Amino acid sequence: MLRTAEREAQSLIFMEDICHAYRMGEQCLSILDNISLTIRHGESCAILGSSGSGKSTLLNILGLLDRPTSGRFLLNGRDMANATPDECAGIRNRLIGFVFQNFNLLPRLSALDNVALPLRYRGYSRNQSRQFAHRQIELVGLADRLTHRPADLSGGQRQRVAIARALAGEPALILADEPTGNLDADTAQEIMGLLLELNRTQAVTLVMVTHDATLAKQLDRRLHVQSGRIIEALPTGKGRGD
Ligand code: ADP
Ligand code: MG
Repeated sequence: MLRTAEREAQSLIFMEDICHAYRMGEQCLSILDNISLTIRHGESCAILGSSGSGKSTLLNILGLLDRPTSGRFLLNGRDMANATPDECAGIRNRLIGFVFQNFNLLPRLSALDNVALPLRYRGYSRNQSRQFAHRQIELVGLADRLTHRPADLSGGQRQRVAIARALAGEPALILADEPTGNLDADTAQEIMGLLLELNRTQAVTLVMVTHDATLAKQLDRRLHVQSGRIIEALPTGKGRGD
């Protein structure tokens, strides 16, 4: 049993007694109620729960897009309580890649430029960004679609581009909010396979919200958000043939 300080230091995500409430006029809507959660480097976790249970709220806090109302949150050993918005943006940029249900690609840009754009924001030259983006797109199996715009790609291909974009900054953590929610079952499994492969081969920690129990079974852990709490399903084998 590791001491708390060691667990904090070794974890990518360390949450203790996290609460989150939304203020709606006079009312305070409590969504997360004393959540404690530790996720280690390289793990893959599914976040499950009914609609409105607080899955995206949790992911937004993990992704530094929102701050918890109270509680302790360490990301990669850094206590986020005293981080300024600029520091949060910097950490988010270096550490985290996001994947969304609606892909969120820019319609006027080619697949290559969608992936290259965040690298440009990081200060890389146009050539460097494109070279690096090219490699990421190869990694997700779309080398023959570099110049396609999102409208000329299938849903699964769009999500591959979005995953390449999330990977471009070489993040330690991928946060995916229902990444297969708009895809048919076969394509969803393909995207799941890709995310798992990246999790294994690139040592990227994966936290993924999904409604799909079949997909969730393939990840290391299953965390259910329910009545503001997290209930972890017992490990039952990962469905990877073991
Ligand atoms: P999930 O992703 O599990 O469907 P969310 O985390 O998006 O759920 O939302 C949890 C609850 O919080 C919902 O009841 C939703 O209406 C409410 N909520 C989400 N975002 C806000 C917000 N910005 N302001 C007020 N209420 C919100
Ligand atoms: Mg949601």
